[in-house]
Amino acid sequence: MVTEVLKPSMETLKKAAELIKNGEVVGIPTETVYGLAANAYDSNACAKIFEAKGRPQDNPLIIHISSLTMLKNSVREIPPLALILADNFWSGPLTMIFPKKDIVPDTTSGGLDTVAVRMPDNEDTLNLIEMCGFPLAAPSANLSGSPSPTSATHVFQDMNGRIPLIIDGGECEKGVESTVICFTDNGKGVKILRPGAVTEEMLSRFCEVETDKNVFAKPMENEKVISPGVKYKHYSPKAKIVIVETDNDKAFADFLNSREEENLYGVIFGNEKDIKVKTMSYGITAEEQAHNLFAVLRRTDELGADIAYVRCPEKKGVGTAVYNRLLRAAAFNVIKL
Ligand code: AMP
Ligand code: MG
Repeated sequence: MVTEVLKPSMETLKKAAELIKNGEVVGIPTETVYGLAANAYDSNACAKIFEAKGRPQDNPLIIHISSLTMLKNSVREIPPLALILADNFWSGPLTMIFPKKDIVPDTTSGGLDTVAVRMPDNEDTLNLIEMCGFPLAAPSANLSGSPSPTSATHVFQDMNGRIPLIIDGGECEKGVESTVICFTDNGKGVKILRPGAVTEEMLSRFCEVETDKNVFAKPMENEKVISPGVKYKHYSPKAKIVIVETDNDKAFADFLNSREEENLYGVIFGNEKDIKVKTMSYGITAEEQAHNLFAVLRRTDELGADIAYVRCPEKKGVGTAVYNRLLRAAAFNVIKL
């Protein structure tokens, strides 16, 4: 299959909508990461997503909507709190989990009785969903296990020959996947299953918020997790990733300078001094770090790195999402200085 990469235009969106209506899979831009989109109500089309990604069948897909009508058509119950959160955070990087209607096939929900829903903040993608007239199931457009794609080039690296079309909407603004929440306390509170750009602080203006223990902990072998995508190893390049935790710039520089591995890179914030090994910077603010993280992880492979020591982000705000992804990229390998 030839994979076309086209800039968004009315013509491109029409072409994408035709392909999707015919049961095909298309790479789409969103504000979080690129998605691999198919008709969320078509079991065969969604099966193609799993095939293209090599994704385990039990890992459910998020469905992307362009209107509250699409939400109502897809789910059985909507707690009043969900509408308040939708009002405040949609279109945006917040995914909410609801009991699903039968119209959402088991293939989409990974066999669960629930479905995850969000409204993405990308005008072209919202228009595409409107043109299709049904929600688009779309997981991140990477091969399962590798770093998520934040540019059309990343999608092409992983999906060339596997899908007919990628819409090139430029770099994703946020750079990490959406915050995933489920409702607790009869719909009055929420639990964060995966942190993202909508933070605990932002949600706690509206309700009680708890964070699932698997966000930062390594799940036990065979443990049943609420959110199947938070499994152990994920987002990994070929290079071994090790997180180095310290708030002392000099200790970090001394640590890197003392390492003797060949093909070693330091992934730094960018304002550290006196580092003598090869480095890549992923940014000083949590927002910059989220925006750059996956691109930097992919770059370690392009540069042929064997090992990358990544400076640990601050674990607050969007930094919690960066840390959550890094922990999985590093298979929970953390050195504290
Ligand atoms: P991705 O599409 O790659 O961003 O991954 C979507 C993630 O959302 C999954 O891996 C799960 O962790 C989570 N998710 C999706 N649907 C559900 C659901 N019904 N219940 C719990 N978590 C879900
Ligand atoms: Mg993913």
